[in-house]
Amino acid sequence: MTRVNFRDDVEACEAQVWLPGRLLIELGAVVDGLHKVANPYRCWLPAEHPGEHWSLGMEATGEVGHWIVWSDAAPPRLLVAGFCHATLETFDLQEMVYCRLAREHQCRHLGYGHIDADRLGNAAMSVCW
Ligand SMILES: [Zn+2]
Ligand SMILES: [Zn+2]
Repeated sequence: MTRVNFRDDVEACEAQVWLPGRLLIELGAVVDGLHKVANPYRCWLPAEHPGEHWSLGMEATGEVGHWIVWSDAAPPRLLVAGFCHATLETFDLQEMVYCRLAREHQCRHLGYGHIDADRLGNAAMSVCW
């Protein structure tokens, strides 16, 4: 499994999904979309999260996410939702880590950034809180 957090050993969910062509076209048509459209999509949530898998398919202007939601029982569908934006303070008062999950997520927050002074200069990493 992929380690996403050096603080308390949270692993990433390894679920992946291949979108059918019509959903790829729909994502590609999002106005002001910030990402390339490419299969497969990987779940963004921590391992053993409750409920369905969520992956960000497309982000438009940083405010709204077009999420891909699926489960073992249900095929992928698209869902538009804002971001949670919960914040985590870091060693650097100028820099906060923001939760990058959808607003209504049921698991712990998950963001991306530099949170430990010892890691300064290293790559940003995912963190759960
Ligand atoms: Zn998942
Ligand atoms: Zn959150």
